[in-house]
Amino acid sequence: MAADTLIASSQIEEVFGSHVFNKAVQKERLSRATYKKLQHIAENGGRLTEEIANEVAEAMKEWALEHGATYYAHWFQPLNGITSEKHNSFLHPLPDGRAIARFSGKELIQGETDGSSFPNGGLRATFEARGYTIWDPASPAFIRNGVLCIPTAMMSYTQETLDKRVPMLRSQVALAKQAKRLLGYFGREPKTITVNIGPEQEYFIITEKDFAQRPDLINCGRTLFGRRPVKGQQLSEHYYGTIRPAVDRFMKDANKRLWELGIPVITKHNEVAPCQHELAPQYEPASIAIDHNLLTMTEIKEVAGKHGLTCLLHEKPFNFVNGSGKHSNWSLSADGKNLLDPSDTPEDNLLFLVILTCVISAVDKHQDLLRASIASAGNDQRLGADEAPPAIISMFLGDDLFEIVEAIIEGRKYKSHGKELLDAGVPTLADAVLGTTDRNRTSPFAFTGNKFEFRMPGSQENLSGCNMVLNTAVAEGFDLCATAIENKLQKAESVRGKLSARDKKRAVSKFAFAWVKRTLKAHRRILFNGNGYSAAWEKEAKARGLLNLKTTADALPYLIKPQNILFFNKYKVMDEAEVTARYVATAQQYAFNLDIEASCMVYMARHFYLPAIQRFSADLAMAVKTKKELRATSAAEVAILKKTAHALDVISAATDSLDAANKKAGAIKNPQTQDNAYKNKVLPAMAALREEVDAMEECVGREYWPFPSYNRMLHYVKASPDKIQIVKIGRDSSY
Ligand code: ADP
Ligand code: MG
Repeated sequence: MAADTLIASSQIEEVFGSHVFNKAVQKERLSRATYKKLQHIAENGGRLTEEIANEVAEAMKEWALEHGATYYAHWFQPLNGITSEKHNSFLHPLPDGRAIARFSGKELIQGETDGSSFPNGGLRATFEARGYTIWDPASPAFIRNGVLCIPTAMMSYTQETLDKRVPMLRSQVALAKQAKRLLGYFGREPKTITVNIGPEQEYFIITEKDFAQRPDLINCGRTLFGRRPVKGQQLSEHYYGTIRPAVDRFMKDANKRLWELGIPVITKHNEVAPCQHELAPQYEPASIAIDHNLLTMTEIKEVAGKHGLTCLLHEKPFNFVNGSGKHSNWSLSADGKNLLDPSDTPEDNLLFLVILTCVISAVDKHQDLLRASIASAGNDQRLGADEAPPAIISMFLGDDLFEIVEAIIEGRKYKSHGKELLDAGVPTLADAVLGTTDRNRTSPFAFTGNKFEFRMPGSQENLSGCNMVLNTAVAEGFDLCATAIENKLQKAESVRGKLSARDKKRAVSKFAFAWVKRTLKAHRRILFNGNGYSAAWEKEAKARGLLNLKTTADALPYLIKPQNILFFNKYKVMDEAEVTARYVATAQQYAFNLDIEASCMVYMARHFYLPAIQRFSADLAMAVKTKKELRATSAAEVAILKKTAHALDVISAATDSLDAANKKAGAIKNPQTQDNAYKNKVLPAMAALREEVDAMEECVGREYWPFPSYNRMLHYVKASPDKIQIVKIGRDSSY
């Protein structure tokens, strides 16, 4: 890639956000009154008149045309978790053969789609398929590939949500409402409550040439076959290792694109598995952070292609090495002040302890929904596979906070360690401060200084779902605490008459602390500081009564439990039809994904692996025959011949079994019964076939083998700084 596509350090400020219709551009191009009104609506809601929309649309169009865009698109997040867009041109033909560029307020505010063509979980039957896309002014419009993209929500004609954005936004409304109520008791009256999210994105980069030769990578995003590589990640040399030049060029190019789109990517590094990498942006308000993460996934895939590389976003592209996740860092701020900042003495910071307790109770009470919110066929391959958190939800607080919690439960006094200096025993080294929380990579839900890090989401996940659950669950925690304080105060005032401000403050502290103690006691079981990967934890978690929902098929039914429907309903996040639709759509998605994987395995076995083994076996048979005539028989050759001949039978039978199991599961109508069949019948048949084929990869000559091996894909070799050269081993097969 030519150096001129990268940005010079002097250009950073100019490039960042240059493709975004952000606040600065809005301020410059809109009248003062319209700009102020628009900001007010974006932050607090309100009616958006056609007059305002027309002015914004005109300014957006002018700006977009100046930046080379000729189309606009409503950009939204259907239930399959990816993004969708329908492009419409600004072009408006005139009767005299000329044309003008036009974009109205109406077109900005609302678009129409065919709701039935997206996953809809039965909410939209084809005969009444109308769906609407509705502008979300809180998320800035941007230009991508010559198209002005306008972030929108998608709703059905019957006013149900058909997307991932709306329930997440509703959960923020619920959270803000309850947070303001609770904070009111602590003398705080914040104008805005903001959920902040910082998503860390892991991904793999391999060569496009290898990718193009593997039907499994093309169709499923992961390898369905492949024997253990000679070298995996055992030497721990890739994590934070020097980035190979080809990938470095890709990363710099991707950074440029992401910065143009106003995505504040600030961290990049090699991850643990060979070919695995990570990037992380500076955290942002939730819906913007989620939009940006979705855009990041689209962009890095596209940019990789320009460098002769392919970006794999699947949760487990390769067995035997780590899979990829997407940590969702979550915090809450009131008028910009982080409510999860423990201060130097958290034990004396009652409001912090109250909020911490609310989150602890939220996670314990809604383990099932948090687990279900990140359930997918791909993530099932990764969770609990010794590199990612297990399917059991628990929380890590770090020693200091954990001891504070224990002390509160037991009614003891506790003095926080405070910040200590790190002593390396070398006087010339700079002073470093020791944090009060250690890291615990094995924990699915960890407190990391001033935020929580939810580590279960898979790398492809749209973070709307899990944050929608978390926000609602914490809103419920705030609600319960505020209600407890409210009831106690009412009782006290009914006995003692109206309390003075000072007495009220004291009473609130007392009631809040009692609630904290009671609630921590009730939810203590969710706290775990130990090794989450260990088998002992699985046993202990069971004894504590924690859920261990190993697969998507086990987790999804919890979505539609009556108490969970009531929960979403109570906080006006989703009604019963909307929850059910999400359950059905996700359950179907699981079955569809596994059907594609199973079909792909059958295809690869019948059309590639079996013929390859046959060829090898036939050549070997000729050699054995000839050598026998020449009285030069090789016992080893005869043994390999027998082994491959036997493998042909076994693989052929395993392929037929998988095909039959998949067809049977595919015909099941009930989504749950179908998912159970995929989990119990199809997945084991897939594993059985893989094992046999992988064993043959060890035995059959390399030039016969139809697909690039793990050795080659995970350790590709570069030749010159500008070109990646594939070391050609044997015949090139194309797919
Ligand atoms: P790690 O050490 O966990 O790999 P990274 O630096 O890769 O950390 O990513 C941490 C992420 O957490 C970043 O996206 C960062 O912006 C985000 N983050 C930091 N503070 C907060 C906060 N208060 N709220 C939400 N996210 C935060
Ligand atoms: Mg990181």
